[in-house]
Amino acid sequence: MTDYPNTQLLIDGEWRAARSGKTIPVLNPATGAEIGTVAHASTVDLDAALAAVEKGFAVWKDTSAFERAKIMRKAAELLRERADAIAPIMTLEQGKPLAQAKMETLGAADTIDWFAEEARRTYGQIIPARAPGVIQMTLKLPVGPVAAFTPWNFPINQVVRKLSAALATGCSIIVKAPEETPASPAALIRCFVDAGVPAGVVNLVYGIPAEVSEYLIPHPTIRKISFTGSTPIGKMLAGLAGQHMKRATMELGGHAPVIVTADADIAKAVELMATHKFRNAGQVCVSPTRFLIEDAAFEHFTEGFTAAAKALKVGAGMDADTEMGPLANDRRIPALEALVNDAVDHGGKLLTGGRRIGNTGWFFEPTVLADVPTEARIMNEEPFGPVAVINRFSHLDDAIVEANRLPFGLAAYAFTGSGATATRLGNEVEAGMLSINHLGLALPELPFGGIRDSGYGTEGGSEAVDAYLETKLVTRLG
Ligand code: NAD
Repeated sequence: MTDYPNTQLLIDGEWRAARSGKTIPVLNPATGAEIGTVAHASTVDLDAALAAVEKGFAVWKDTSAFERAKIMRKAAELLRERADAIAPIMTLEQGKPLAQAKMETLGAADTIDWFAEEARRTYGQIIPARAPGVIQMTLKLPVGPVAAFTPWNFPINQVVRKLSAALATGCSIIVKAPEETPASPAALIRCFVDAGVPAGVVNLVYGIPAEVSEYLIPHPTIRKISFTGSTPIGKMLAGLAGQHMKRATMELGGHAPVIVTADADIAKAVELMATHKFRNAGQVCVSPTRFLIEDAAFEHFTEGFTAAAKALKVGAGMDADTEMGPLANDRRIPALEALVNDAVDHGGKLLTGGRRIGNTGWFFEPTVLADVPTEARIMNEEPFGPVAVINRFSHLDDAIVEANRLPFGLAAYAFTGSGATATRLGNEVEAGMLSINHLGLALPELPFGGIRDSGYGTEGGSEAVDAYLETKLVTRLG
């Protein structure tokens, strides 16, 4: 039996309640029952966090990259040691199967290690001068205190990428972590505190998201924003960041197309994509959604995919044999029901699923729709749930046009037996990330981010480090 902890704020190195004493209830999505609370920050707490993050920055920017990396690697080690205790906390608050929660926790440790190492290689340049005696150099300096806003679908993974990039480069940070899933990100941050990150360098708050972002983003102490969440909210926060000339990284929604040509390994495409679609109950920004299958392979793919969806064991994440847990919050149930009904009203075929399971908890059937016209809402709005749409195409040109039809451009997938087709898709599919014939996204060393309405900036690879650095030119004579 796992005890679910109440979550406090972390401000200036101290774990504490909100000054008002206010809390927000935390619910278990598998039962709907309240399992604990999280402290609800108000302006007085945010002011304290702002003062702390400014003080923390003064200390951390002057801590060498070598020393910062040492502390970060220690945090990664603590996270690995504590993964067995942290994973059930994440499952209780978020719903995902325990094995997925453990994988997310251990993956976060690898992310910390990668950023710790990478930040030791944030080289500036010496640029040849036109005049004798002049030295021209660029210095890479931390951008300053960061405000990070993270969602509930990957409670640890969404925090760790922002936190690791900030800390590795010498920035301090206020994390506004998700109120629905507060305890596992707090456990992650506790590893950094216990590893020796100085007081004020990392601060953690929860509250009403709009109140916190509207207060922190314009504040002169904050120099960079990083947000992961929906496109409408991202556009609003990017607007606010723009008004105050703050650097921003926006990791927003997607609507990933999957192009499968008839000469592909169809069995492999089914196996990889069915697992990927229903992971975390489809609440993943890179979840495959619009399947575009060449005519000759349509039946084979659709039958295999539907069978895989039907065979999935849906249940509480704490049960050992569960393959898909509940949705993380109750508002996704009516949202998904409405999308499925609208697709059927437009003439789409419901091959399996489409309904809530039971009345306890927020379980939804793995759902497959086919032959859905592009006018249906689900062909245009991110479902963010366990729903796949399988449509057919006769000419690759049409599949590419459909893949690029939406304003989103986050992840895309393709399966093909032709090298020429793979090259063409690599050039023509408009996405921040394209994975062909295998699943290869979201490793710390790879760029992770979108284009167009899916946002800007990347949260992986060397570019993710750059996002937290300023380039300063120093040119001198003598
Ligand atoms: P939402 O748009 O209300 O919230 C999305 C996230 O943004 C949440 O974490 C929320 O706390 C935060 N948020 C909302 N308003 C905010 C504000 N004014 N300032 C700062 N943060 C704010 O939607 P939701 O019901 O929580 O989630 C559903 C939608 O959100 C999905 O359809 C999906 O598009 C998107 N989403 C995307 C990701 C992702 O990984 N990109 C993760 C979670 C949710």
